[in-house]
Amino acid sequence: MEINRREFMVVPAAMAGSLLAADAEIPWQRKIRRLGQLNMTEHDPVVLNVEELADYWASLKVDAVLVSVTGILAFYQTKVPFHRKGKFLGERDFFGDCCAAAKKRGLRVIARMSPDLNWEDAVAAHPEWFQRDPQGNPKRHTEDPRLFLTCMFSTYMTDYMPAIMREINSLYDVDGLFTNAWPPLGVMPVCHCDQCRKLPQPGTLAYWDKFNERTMYLWKLYDSIAKEKKPSNFYFANLGGGIRSTANLVELGEICEWFQCDNQGRGGDDTPIWGCALQGRVCNAVQKGKMATNVTAAWSTGRPRWRNVYKSQQEERMWLNETVAAGLVPYHHIIGGENGLGEDRRWLEPAHQYFNWMARHDAHFVNKRSIANVGVVMGQRTHLFYTPPRGALMPQYMDGMYYALLEGRFLFDFVHEEKLAPEDLKKYAALLLPNTALLSGQQCRQLRAYVDGGGSLLATFETSLYTDRNERRADFGLADVFGIRKAGDIVGTNGNAYLARIEKRHAILNGFAGTNWIPGAENRVPVAPVEGPILTVVPGFVAYPPELSYPLQSHTDEPAVVVREKGSSRLVYFPGDIERTMWQSGHTDLARLLQNSIRWVVGANPPVTIEGAGVIETFAWETQAGFAVHVLNYTNPAMHRGWIRNFYPIGAQKVRMTLPPGRRVTRVELLRAGTDIPFRLAGGAIEFTIPKVLDYEVAAMHSA
Ligand SMILES: [Zn+2]
Repeated sequence: MEINRREFMVVPAAMAGSLLAADAEIPWQRKIRRLGQLNMTEHDPVVLNVEELADYWASLKVDAVLVSVTGILAFYQTKVPFHRKGKFLGERDFFGDCCAAAKKRGLRVIARMSPDLNWEDAVAAHPEWFQRDPQGNPKRHTEDPRLFLTCMFSTYMTDYMPAIMREINSLYDVDGLFTNAWPPLGVMPVCHCDQCRKLPQPGTLAYWDKFNERTMYLWKLYDSIAKEKKPSNFYFANLGGGIRSTANLVELGEICEWFQCDNQGRGGDDTPIWGCALQGRVCNAVQKGKMATNVTAAWSTGRPRWRNVYKSQQEERMWLNETVAAGLVPYHHIIGGENGLGEDRRWLEPAHQYFNWMARHDAHFVNKRSIANVGVVMGQRTHLFYTPPRGALMPQYMDGMYYALLEGRFLFDFVHEEKLAPEDLKKYAALLLPNTALLSGQQCRQLRAYVDGGGSLLATFETSLYTDRNERRADFGLADVFGIRKAGDIVGTNGNAYLARIEKRHAILNGFAGTNWIPGAENRVPVAPVEGPILTVVPGFVAYPPELSYPLQSHTDEPAVVVREKGSSRLVYFPGDIERTMWQSGHTDLARLLQNSIRWVVGANPPVTIEGAGVIETFAWETQAGFAVHVLNYTNPAMHRGWIRNFYPIGAQKVRMTLPPGRRVTRVELLRAGTDIPFRLAGGAIEFTIPKVLDYEVAAMHSA
């Protein structure tokens, strides 16, 4: 494998290959550009205006709608035992009416089911269907105690749900089957029913194996039932949760036809604004060019929630922007049709305008490949099973790295730890491993081969100190690659965290003048001394009282960073959890150190540079029409805590992008501003300036 930093390197991603085939051969679901769902309530059969809703979806130019069948409450005249009809349904075929209204307008219909809950009469007749607490009692739903939690290892999933699916197939002209709330998002079930007692301990990798086995089995079962209707039909489900998705994303990526991200929005918590873009990156790492959508809530996400009230329009818009920029298809989601089409109708028009704007430019949103030369290993196993030091939370590691990448304006992709083969990595000049603790022997060998082939690595803290089975290694799995040796157990902080003494100048220390030391991190793995260290550890000491706030040991030979060059590879290992500590403390020195280090390992000639003021997130794509550079403006007081209340425009952003050999650009169009801008072609690159970005801009390059 060869890494050539000078060349524009791309690898097939979303939709690659399929675009070359005749349009007719592309399955319909891969051509979807927009989606809609009014999530139906029990009350809707007597209040929702079905025709008005269908008109609304058609006016948004959506390709498909999700219509509720459910499993908790039936929206049609079901004959499946324990599929309780809603109390306002009467004799009406509400699902059928909604389905027909959509079909009349040329929209595809996905039948939506919820296998997660059922009522007390079902508990009495089928006690084996339900989750149990340690005492053996059926587990009640926390909000409505009339409902009970079903168990995914029970026959509820293999008898009851298939019965509903087959009934729907027999009655309606549906195009696919979808389950909400299964597989579970973010957290795996802990159940003490008779089936689950035979399983390994929840929360362990052994349990995860069984969970994944069951998930794959049920997914394939439901997909085969979908295909009983017609071969082009399929089954899919929600897969949100970012990196902490419960199911093994690589395994599911092989079989799932449609990757649906259920990442609807944030509330007034400390979720950073890039939560949706991050979800898109997770999806791009595993979806293998298949359809990928993100459910974007117009309702008031957060805590407390208001399911039937519109959220801040700016917040909703940024979530849509991120969905589109990250290469996902947007999915407008509203809940309940009180008073015809909702008591709160403020959420109708913004999405209408957004989707119609998008529809005018579809060719620029059909992506063939992402343009990025930095890969960030996302470590799904680490995020699910690793226990960070006391006081640390696993998401902080990725948030810290993510923030540094945004501030440094790097273009990057996520890389799943199970996708480290040469073919997966050849586009990347460097891989970053933010505390990727769990790595198998095979994954370490793949990373070693990547380095031997000229690739560069940056890793932090406990990266490779555990096997993929979460067993602690005596030394780092990547010890030889970085030239490091573990010399002790994790050292935390009580008072002042350790410092990093500057031993000699290096590019990773650019901008540090007038100081002999900079911050270390909150936690570190002591490593053995190395030759010619750049930073050494000054051990932590008392913060209060200030009388004692000075180092007892001012100089050691313990490295605070290990930097190596091996052929054309550049290697940086930080024994401290510096990305997390940066996130936790907000320390700007750590941000600078991280960005310098990333810049150094990535090397010169990035495929795209964007210069200007402001905090932005960027994506660059090769598209159906040519190329596109997406700029999301996060320069906002609500960047770290929702919601966005207003947008604050940033000024000129100067873009330079290397073009693949033989490609010409004939026109650069700003899709949000609605204007063409001048550009310059020189030295195999294109240069242009985006004069201003309010919330989002797409510089669309038309290319021959
Ligand atoms: Zn169970």
